[in-house]
Amino acid sequence: MMNYPLTLAQILEHAHHIHGSKRVTTLLPDQTFHSYTYTALYERVKRLADAITQLGVIQSGDRVGTYASNTYQHLELYYAIPCMGAVLHPLNVRLTPVQLARIVHEAEDKIIFVGDAFAEPFEELRERIECKQIVHFNPISVPPSVAYEQLLSEAEPVYSWNIPDESWAMGLCYTSGTQGEPRGVLYTHRSMFLHTLAVNQADVFGLTEADVVMPLVPMFHAMAWGLPYAAMFAGADIVLPSAKPVCLADLIAETGVTVAAGVPTIWAKAYPELSKRKRDLSTLRRLIVGGEAMPPTLIEAYEKNLGVEVCHAWGMTEMSPTGTFSKLRGVHQNLSDAEKWRIKAKQGQPIPGVELRLAAETSNGFTKLPWNGEVVGELQVRSPWTASCYYNIQPTTEYFTADGWLRTGDVATIDVDGYVQIVDRAKALIRSGGESISSVALETSLLKHPSVREAAVIGVPDEKWGERPLAVVVLTQWTDESISDDFRQHLSVEFPKFWIPDRFVVVDEIPKTSVGKFDKQALRKQLLTPETKEKLS
Ligand code: ADP
Repeated sequence: MMNYPLTLAQILEHAHHIHGSKRVTTLLPDQTFHSYTYTALYERVKRLADAITQLGVIQSGDRVGTYASNTYQHLELYYAIPCMGAVLHPLNVRLTPVQLARIVHEAEDKIIFVGDAFAEPFEELRERIECKQIVHFNPISVPPSVAYEQLLSEAEPVYSWNIPDESWAMGLCYTSGTQGEPRGVLYTHRSMFLHTLAVNQADVFGLTEADVVMPLVPMFHAMAWGLPYAAMFAGADIVLPSAKPVCLADLIAETGVTVAAGVPTIWAKAYPELSKRKRDLSTLRRLIVGGEAMPPTLIEAYEKNLGVEVCHAWGMTEMSPTGTFSKLRGVHQNLSDAEKWRIKAKQGQPIPGVELRLAAETSNGFTKLPWNGEVVGELQVRSPWTASCYYNIQPTTEYFTADGWLRTGDVATIDVDGYVQIVDRAKALIRSGGESISSVALETSLLKHPSVREAAVIGVPDEKWGERPLAVVVLTQWTDESISDDFRQHLSVEFPKFWIPDRFVVVDEIPKTSVGKFDKQALRKQLLTPETKEKLS
């Protein structure tokens, strides 16, 4: 067989030759649309590669940062940078300037492209970093930075792709930092190409040429879950919401979105609007949801009331990011709706190409645990699109096993059919009197209570038990003080007494991380000040 290199240039060329008339539509901050074809995008990607070359500041393998939201320019960079042999490094715009400065310094970004909406916040970062060239999407850019359109207009659409081989780095993403400082993961052309093929299978994302795909997941979060590559390889139209849509229902109705992807908090927020606003959402056939556990009640609400299929996916930045995908199998079709939703709330089966292991640590390595849906173990993974180390960090046994598996940091069960259920992050498990309590299980159950809109459970230090669970809830409506007893009663149906949180704290909002996950570190800081500690004890 031919030794045919697996590179992103093949994806771009295929999209251009076969699907040139397909469209990329961007919702601009003023809520108007920018829309053009794959052919127009292709021509601009060629110009962009030529323009970047003319800047004369990068060599093959150098990192190029982007500080932008989901826009067509960002999509152009998603192709131009890797296809010229450089490394695309999307910066998480929601991290602090101090965190970002460290990341830019570590990545040694030679150029940073700055999106329209980010010119101002970027200035704070600019003061802290050394970077040879700044390019602003905004046409009015202040020297010494240059304007994106100006660069393109001075370049020719002539660039020949320059990827040394398929094992060449194409992208660098940092974890979102839910539990500690973000760590870098370097993807190769081969790994991203194979990830693209894998997620485009019918039983995974299942994108087709007839789809209109909308990544609400930011382009800095694990390469927007690979969707910019998957959608274009499939030949689907793409909708990019560069700014927060004033009305998601309008955006979906006007652009005919068929598949949309985002974290559960986005869908929780959107549900009231989508269910009340009288827009035709009949094109929307599937939500891809991941990054955090999707509450079963929300899956049910979308499927039952809006007729939208919800597919729960689990993954990590370290896995490009897809690891598992939750879809019903043929044998599930005759189950009751409640049974179907119970299965769909699991994180799903490993996608073809991903190997999972449920493991327990022993004195001389790890032993494999059974897949019976009961035994809880550490989830380990290996695949052609899983990292074997972090960028610029020597691999340690904290994250990688001696026999070549990634330690995900998640604890889970796996049932006989291979469906994974994440019990918790190992670090978020609450250890009380020698027993483990799953914060996820308590949160899931609290969300079934009609008065609860959001719930997060954290462990708080306890002299007698080591740790005890504390529940933080956002209520759907005001209720009286006795609500805690009500919650206790509600939880005691499912859980043993020692699992029931000692305290329920009502807040207006639970803090979220840079990618919209519950920020339990911030919650802990907020709640465990010396004064509140006293109040809670
Ligand atoms: P960070 O660890 O900084 O949040 P990532 O965004 O890469 O960085 O998050 C990966 C982690 O997110 C996983 O290890 C897991 O704990 C969690 N996660 C991802 N998808 C799901 C899901 N569908 N259900 C539960 N947890 C998930």
